[in-house]
Amino acid sequence: MSRFKFNEYATVCDECDLVNIIPPMAQSEKFTCSRCHHLLISLPTHRIEKILAYGGSGLLMLVLSLSFPFLSFSSSGIGRTVTFWQSMSVLLTQHFTFLGALLIFVLLVLPICYLLSVVALAWLIKKRKNRTVQRLLLRTITVIQPWLMVDVFLVGVLVALVKMQSMADISFGLSFWSFCGYVLCLLKSVSLVDRRWFWHQVAGAAMSPASVALPARSQGLIGCHFCAAVVAQEDPHCGRCGHTTHSRRPASAQITIALLVAASLMYIPANLLPIMKTTFLGVTEPSTILGGVFQLWGMGSYPIAIIILIASVFIPVAKILALAWLCWQLRFSSRHSTTQKLKLYRITECVGRWSMIDIFVVATLTGLVQMGGFMSVLPGAAALSFAAVVILTMLAAMSYDARLLWDQEQP
Ligand SMILES: [Zn+2]
Ligand SMILES: [Zn+2]
Ligand SMILES: [Zn+2]
Repeated sequence: MSRFKFNEYATVCDECDLVNIIPPMAQSEKFTCSRCHHLLISLPTHRIEKILAYGGSGLLMLVLSLSFPFLSFSSSGIGRTVTFWQSMSVLLTQHFTFLGALLIFVLLVLPICYLLSVVALAWLIKKRKNRTVQRLLLRTITVIQPWLMVDVFLVGVLVALVKMQSMADISFGLSFWSFCGYVLCLLKSVSLVDRRWFWHQVAGAAMSPASVALPARSQGLIGCHFCAAVVAQEDPHCGRCGHTTHSRRPASAQITIALLVAASLMYIPANLLPIMKTTFLGVTEPSTILGGVFQLWGMGSYPIAIIILIASVFIPVAKILALAWLCWQLRFSSRHSTTQKLKLYRITECVGRWSMIDIFVVATLTGLVQMGGFMSVLPGAAALSFAAVVILTMLAAMSYDARLLWDQEQP
């Protein structure tokens, strides 16, 4: 049994604004919001030790995946082997600076910061040292978490291999397997991080004003959206984490709509312009996202063609339409229940980052296939606009305040 007790008195649900009075909890129990069933707290056994183990192994795996060959490729007797770092830095040397920087940031910088912070935080909590640093680390973790995409990249690498199978032999290096280990350890560490539990350890139980199990706003209270403490509406800052408090995200619907408009505009060039330029025996052929899907279909890779079609074409459109509809619902409510709308919002929020697959496919191929006029792959103009679509829709989903949906229920 862990020696940490957990007796947070009350917390506000981020998705429906209900104040939840938390009963004393035992190890390996879970507590979900009584109105919207959002998971609020989970108490796995030996959380700190597990985080140290998985986070530490994740970092070790990452070092290993940077030290050996990642992928190798051969066609007609000519071959090339790249390390993980080379496969990303090719984009920089080929003057796709923004795309290369984005990749390095999302696949290396953010996950390294995340793992280091998680491990350091767990260690400091275990040793009960330096509360100020603990707070800083916890803030870093909370901000980085939604932007981790290494698992999407792994799927992108596999799709890239299927795409190339008719033209070349591709084999995995030792680093590829340690990269898989790194992804698994990172996912496991993410699943062990619980915002409420960590804030409780780092800054103690929130000093909650007297509250009952009703929406926070109806009691003159606010749920801090950073640490989920219950705060009085008069307080400009959360007493526990110091974050500026606001009952609802200011101008949430307007910002979401603005981001959606920007995303829809970027979606047009993303589909019309080529996302990838393949050179084979001196002939350069550009291909669009849909062109790539048809090519995969023609090769008989039906499942992969369908995955790319769904991830790159349908998900962005569905996401834009769903969020636009949810914004519309804030003004003109329909007969659909709030729970159904919230379900739609949650799906939109969690599938969004998978649209990055095609970007990662192009990046992997660019990193690997560089044989000059014989055979090479470069990103096309659509790659940037497509990355922008994904990032803009992710930001739109984040700026949408689901609590506004529940406000409509009460007259
Ligand atoms: Zn809730
Ligand atoms: Zn707070
Ligand atoms: Zn805020």
